[in-house]
Amino acid sequence: MTATNALQFPISEAPAMGQPLAVAEGVYWLRMPLPFALNHINLWLLEDSNGWTIIDTGINTDACKELWQQVFDNHLNNKPVHQLIVTHLHPDHIGLAGWICELWNLELKMSRTDYMACRLLITDTGKPAPKAAIDFYQRAGVSDEQLNSYKTKFGGYGKSIYAMPESFVRLQDGEFVTMAGHRWEIIVGRGHAPEHLCLLCPELNVFIAGDQLLPSISSNVSVWPTEPHSNPLKDWLDSCAMLQQRTPADVLVLPSHGQVFFGAHQRLQRLIDGHEKSLIKLLEACQQPQRNVDLFSQLFRRPISDDVLTLAVGETQAHLNYLVSKKKLQSSASDNGAIWYQTI
Ligand SMILES: [Zn+2]
Repeated sequence: MTATNALQFPISEAPAMGQPLAVAEGVYWLRMPLPFALNHINLWLLEDSNGWTIIDTGINTDACKELWQQVFDNHLNNKPVHQLIVTHLHPDHIGLAGWICELWNLELKMSRTDYMACRLLITDTGKPAPKAAIDFYQRAGVSDEQLNSYKTKFGGYGKSIYAMPESFVRLQDGEFVTMAGHRWEIIVGRGHAPEHLCLLCPELNVFIAGDQLLPSISSNVSVWPTEPHSNPLKDWLDSCAMLQQRTPADVLVLPSHGQVFFGAHQRLQRLIDGHEKSLIKLLEACQQPQRNVDLFSQLFRRPISDDVLTLAVGETQAHLNYLVSKKKLQSSASDNGAIWYQTI
């Protein structure tokens, strides 16, 4: 067992891609590749008496489909997949939901908000970037060159997702599902995705956390152009505090990225503290008026490349909107459309 930052990692090596590894009674860890800097996602297979439950699907690539086919051929003990649950709408989690539902004749189970948002976002593919989005990034202060790059990539979300099922089954906070012979409680977190499902099994003392609680990276919490005045950082901080109340301190956490770990409450506190520190840094920096893009160096250790620009603008805006809602920052527009923030 290795430990960093008070977390404990009971399994020192992650399983090879596409090779399920038992992490609790009837619960298997399945890793799939991602074509990004974040190069993997963790998915979960749960063995029920008469079939299997899959939690999350991987992204819509041939590599993931081939690995799934190997799992279906070699690791199901002659039982069908009879349940698919998706934690949230991001392509690495939902990308192959439609494909798996077709293969196994399943109804997709997920939250209503994320299902609806996913169906809506897919319709952006093939359309030009709307004025609301261009205005949003201009207000943040991005360059014309960066804006052009954004326009060419607009609608990319839908390209990573296999055709979605036309209907679904809603899961919501406080409900229970049965997996691996046990009852699991649905716990909804917010801020990273609109209505992110986590699953807690008190009997196994296991928590399937999705992206709501990761051991080594902090999940992106972003404002998006469709709702420029939203306050997802409040949702995220409230969710972290809520999870400290609703999960046992000694629960085994199964996160969507990184290693399985113990230390849920310490990690949640570290995430809360990290955002609090960022908020203080922004207030100091905004003694002099700043635009969104001027503040990247306060929040991110690495320089921001074009492929993560929307995440960086979104995350910075989440912190700015939080401080505006607390009446600690005021904003004013300049002639070229950029918004400047100053500490009150
Ligand atoms: Zn996510």
